Amino acid sequence: ATPESCESGGSRIHVFVRLRPMAKKEKETGSRNCVKIVNRKDVYLTEFASETDYLRLKRLRGRHFCFDAAFSDSTTQQEVYATTTAELVEGVLQGRNGSVFCYGATGAGKTYTMLGTVENPGVMVLAIKDLFSKIRQRSYDGNHLVHLSYLEVYNETVRDLLSPGRPLVLREDKQGIVAAGLTQYRAYSTDEVMSLLQQGNQNRTTEPTRANETSSRSHAILQVVAEFRVIQSGNIVNRVGKLSLIDLAGSERALATDQRSQRSIEGANINRSLLALSSCINALVEGKKHIPYRNSKLTQLLKDSLGGPCNTVMIANISPCNLSFGETQNTLHWADRAK
Ligand code: ADP
Ligand code: MG
Repeated sequence: ATPESCESGGSRIHVFVRLRPMAKKEKETGSRNCVKIVNRKDVYLTEFASETDYLRLKRLRGRHFCFDAAFSDSTTQQEVYATTTAELVEGVLQGRNGSVFCYGATGAGKTYTMLGTVENPGVMVLAIKDLFSKIRQRSYDGNHLVHLSYLEVYNETVRDLLSPGRPLVLREDKQGIVAAGLTQYRAYSTDEVMSLLQQGNQNRTTEPTRANETSSRSHAILQVVAEFRVIQSGNIVNRVGKLSLIDLAGSERALATDQRSQRSIEGANINRSLLALSSCINALVEGKKHIPYRNSKLTQLLKDSLGGPCNTVMIANISPCNLSFGETQNTLHWADRAK
């Protein structure tokens, strides 16, 4: 299922779902599968229903969802990239900004989808690779600039993941909202990018949860700015486009982990950024004039990359495990409202 054409303009957001495979540990402890994907776009929550009985779920509220595409647990990174993001890279080469988000609970596969591994690089790396190969073909004189910046929003504080240190201050200038002093890393090839991003990811603020796992409460934002020259109606013109790729913090509720200590405050702040993002997306989808970008650091940073025709993509990551049923349902419900 390919996304509908976006020729008509407007602010429709493309929404995809990706199911991760069951982990070995989950299998060993007897977890059941509670998700079924049909026709590459329908998602059924099958817990408490037999596998073959899923069509009955179509009539039950909150048990059946339909998206632009739903990726089963055997979908490759390349396929996810090609279906969700390749079109936005094409847009960047036309001088348009775009953004791709991974949304979902901790452990649902956001970082795997965005960053991936050395053997199976994710959307961030595949997008940069594609950008390099296309920009070389298209630029008029072969000269081009590709700059990367990688930052996190944690507790409504912005930090540089490529050069960790003091929090960065957001300023409004002619180009829009910028993080003052943010590292602009000039990339010359794809080869160096994976290790750069892996290092950056190591710098993300993480907290151990009660379950003794590492849970990321930070939003990681990679921004790729491409600049080159083309010939347009006989003139040489400069072209600039920006792609933002965002690995959002875990969407599970603060209440689900720790209600007392500091963590609930952090949770509240994460919800503030996620909430602000939700409000912006809902306002865009509903075609509202006023989009409330100012309500969080995350939405301020992405102000120039949200909205506009077909330039925003949401990938909702879900786990197949029956123990995550509630989180999976919340994620699907959230994604459903972004359509
Ligand atoms: P999140 O970033 O949402 O917390 P991760 O991306 O870290 O989740 O994924 C949790 C675990 O599941 C990791 O060990 C990751 O390698 C694995 N995983 C996630 N998605 C996939 C996938 N599509 N294929 C194989 N392994 C995956
Ligand atoms: Mg992660």
